[in-house]
Amino acid sequence: MTTSNPSFRIAVLPGDGIGREVMPACLELVGAALEVVGAPGLAFETHPAGAQYYAESGEALPRSTLDACRTADAILFGAMGWPDIRFPDGTEIIPQLDLRMEFGLFAGVRPIRWFPGLPRVLTDPRAEGIDFVLVREQTEGLFYARGRGEIRNDEEAYDTMQITRAGTERVAEFAFQLAVQRKKRGKPGVVTCVDKANVFQSMAFFRKVFDEIAGRYPDMQKDHAYVDALALTMVKKPWNLDVLVTENMFGDILSDLAAGLIGGMGMAPSADIGENHGLFQPAHGTAPDIAGKGYANPGAMFLSAAMMLDWLAVRHGEEKLADAARVIEGAVEHTLSTKLAVPMEYGGSANLSDMTRSVISSLAAVRKEVA
Ligand code: ATP
Repeated sequence: MTTSNPSFRIAVLPGDGIGREVMPACLELVGAALEVVGAPGLAFETHPAGAQYYAESGEALPRSTLDACRTADAILFGAMGWPDIRFPDGTEIIPQLDLRMEFGLFAGVRPIRWFPGLPRVLTDPRAEGIDFVLVREQTEGLFYARGRGEIRNDEEAYDTMQITRAGTERVAEFAFQLAVQRKKRGKPGVVTCVDKANVFQSMAFFRKVFDEIAGRYPDMQKDHAYVDALALTMVKKPWNLDVLVTENMFGDILSDLAAGLIGGMGMAPSADIGENHGLFQPAHGTAPDIAGKGYANPGAMFLSAAMMLDWLAVRHGEEKLADAARVIEGAVEHTLSTKLAVPMEYGGSANLSDMTRSVISSLAAVRKEVA
């Protein structure tokens, strides 16, 4: 049974669009998973932020929400932004970028893994072995230009890429640590630095610092790839990839390409990790085209919550939270592999509510299998 005193406080930011739809489903699933494994409960505290809230209040990320995120044990995030709601200068409302900077969430961790029941986008049978993690640097790179870009005389425009030694060291270190953990589970232990070192000084520096960090890991393999070549590899033979590390903008683009390998955004989770904070959110956005219809696939949100439980489990030595993560992952996989529900995203008939019911109803059976 779940203990009556919740041990961890989770700041919940549903946001906009389908973020508001998948979040309640996720909280219900996490509560049920904790119950099934007998883990301590979590205290979910919901806070406003995002484009809709900006339209109502004039604030996109209120101080009270920021403070709550700062003191929470973890942040669970839906999705934010809306095409028609913008700041007066025309820029989009993207509080997730502010949160990354505010809490130094330097590592964007985007695992891409195929499992039975997911669409087979690539026809090669080896595509069933797709299992890699993209680590995106999130506090500098080309996104450094956000709010700093310059247009001169309506004739020239400039955005600056920033790569620092400290920023590159910490993300490279993170990628190697991740590869070490994966190697213990039978993965190859290869970290690939994805850059454009043949053209840009900034990228050559990124590669140089990456190589220095690689020197600290003699038991691991390092590799290099130019981002254009890596995009091709991702489509031609993604089953060869293990851990990738790259700058902010390249990571932004490659993570959507990577999600396409497993059928779309609906099953692509992510974690934004810093030294002291962790924010967990589906890799997808607010999906204005399907928002409000109840069609969204909640899988990515569910798997992001599992990443949060794993992160809390490691940080606090709470093994039962890792058990809850395993049953959530298992229940998602069971739902898809047995076709208990086929999401509308993959051409099936299961909407958000059907998916949620099916995954929750699979928890107990999965628990028996993994116990
Ligand atoms: P952002 O710029 O914030 O990443 P976006 O509008 O570029 O957002 P998404 O919101 O991720 O991109 O949507 C991209 C496409 O994927 C849309 O067609 C959307 O409907 C679809 N999509 C995204 N998430 C889901 C989901 N959970 N279930 C089903 N379809 C989804």
